[in-house]
Parts: sequence; structure tokens; C-alpha cells
Amino acid sequence: MKIAETIQEVREQVKEWRKQGLSVGLVPTMGYLHEGHKSLIDCAVAQNDKVVVSVFVNPMQFGPTEDLATYPRDLERDAALCEAAGADLIFHPQPEEMYHDDFSSFVDMNTLTGGLCGKTRPIHFRGVCTIVAKLFNIVTPDRAYFGQKDAQQLAVIRHMVSDLNFGIEIVGCPIIREEDGLAKSSRNTYLSAEERKAALVLSQSLKEGKALLDAGEKNAEKIRQVITEKINSEPLAKIDYVETVDWNTLEPVDTIEGPVLVAIAVYIGKTRLIDNIIRQ
Ligand code: AMP
Repeated sequence: MKIAETIQEVREQVKEWRKQGLSVGLVPTMGYLHEGHKSLIDCAVAQNDKVVVSVFVNPMQFGPTEDLATYPRDLERDAALCEAAGADLIFHPQPEEMYHDDFSSFVDMNTLTGGLCGKTRPIHFRGVCTIVAKLFNIVTPDRAYFGQKDAQQLAVIRHMVSDLNFGIEIVGCPIIREEDGLAKSSRNTYLSAEERKAALVLSQSLKEGKALLDAGEKNAEKIRQVITEKINSEPLAKIDYVETVDWNTLEPVDTIEGPVLVAIAVYIGKTRLIDNIIRQ
């Protein structure tokens, strides 16, 4: 498995694969890989001849007060995980490689990005769309893999691919969790032992919401209430949002009819964690 630092190296490698008629899958990540990322790589390896994993902590998607500087990084460990999972190439550019000094073009979206995480992180999805569009242009994959963990991101990327006619299949992959239910996240490393315990309230509250949905509850407010109460019972937790939205439009719903996304963002101490369930 190779590690490429430059766009040119990636282009040359992909050109070589294309000459041989091979298909290419892309797994975009910010690194510090865990089982959640590995599940995306596994899926990509199963569906493509060659797999590229990008490892890039994208400055453009972090707000000025967010954790860009402290975001965990460990390329050696990431490379070992990618190699063991059967990836063929890691693309690990420096920020200067992706954003030259006079960089001034962005991919922005008028729908889907205003609510949920977009409310607290107003520039986030512009950064995500721009970097993913760049990665798509550099790697030109047949398929790209995104986790349902970041459900709004998955919806946004699908919409961007449709709007901008990228000829790329977007594959969504289920949330991978720790044994006790906490959704795996690179940011879980920020949690103290006490906070790690408190963080369980995210998946537990969603479990209560899911039980209501399973029992046929159609009142979205009721579901939000139960989840909110559960989270508020944990002293270390502070709610950013608890939302029930249409899974296609990401608009809030009052009555559960079609596919619904129940999404939450919760601060545990200083760490902001997200989790969700989707009812198709
Ligand atoms: P990140 O490195 O956090 O930007 O995540 C890279 C990709 O991995 C995104 O598509 C995430 O949705 C996905 N991902 C992160 N955590 C998980 C998880 N626990 N289960 C499934 N996919 C995940």
C-alpha cells in the first residue's frame, strides 16, 4: 500500500489503474481511524478493484473556535489499519497541497445545510462540500463511501453529487458502535473516564426514541421530548439539538409519516458528539 502526499501522485496511480480497466472506491476521512472508518474501507474493498483512503484534517470545515489544532492525528496507525483492511492507497496531503495561496472557489448549498449541525457550525458544510468535490476531482472514483454517523453530511453529499453531476455512486454505511452503544468517533478520545460514561446517554436516549417509533408513535414532539428528558438526566450533558426531520429534505416534521432522521448533538463537557437513528 502506497501513501501519496501530492495530487499528481494520486492522479498518476489512478490513471494506471484505469488503463488496466480497474474500478476505484474512495473513502474520505480525517484520520485517527477506528472500526467505523474500517467498515467503510471493508465495504469499498468488497465493491471495487482498488481503494483510496484520504486522510486529511480539512481546515476549511472547522469554525474558528473548533478543534482543528487538537484534532487527533496518527498517520502510522492509520496506515496500518488501511493496509490490514486491504486499501491500496492513502492520500495524505498537507493543507498547502489542497489550498494554494489564492484559493477562492467554494461549493456551497442552499438547502439541507441550514439546520441540524449547520446551525451550530455555519461554515462546516461549505468546507465539507468543497473538500469532497476536490477529492472527487482528484481521485475520480466510481464509488465513494460515507457513514450514516454523519447523516446530514451523507444527505448533503448525495445532493451535491446530483446537483453537480458527479458520475459517482455514493454508498451510505451503518453506524458502528462500541459494545456499550456509544457511536465510534475520533472525538471520543477527548472524553475523560467520567465523560465517557456520561456519553452513553446519547445512544441510550436514541434507544428510547426508537422504542417509541417501533411502538408506532407518530408525534415527533413526543419523541423529541423523551430523548430530551433522558439527555437532561445526565448532569455532564448539554443539548445542542434534538431534531426529527424528513430524511430526504432534512426539514423538521411534526408527524412521522415517511422516512425520518432522528438526530442529536450533545456536548459532554467540552466535547460535542453526534448520533442518530434513521427510520426508512
Ligand atoms: P471522519 O474521519 O470523522 O470525517 O469520518 C470519515 C467517514 O467515516 C465519514 O463518512 C463518517 O461518517 C464515517 N464514520 C465515522 N464514524 C463512524 C461510525 N462510528 N460508523 C460508521 N461510519 C463512521
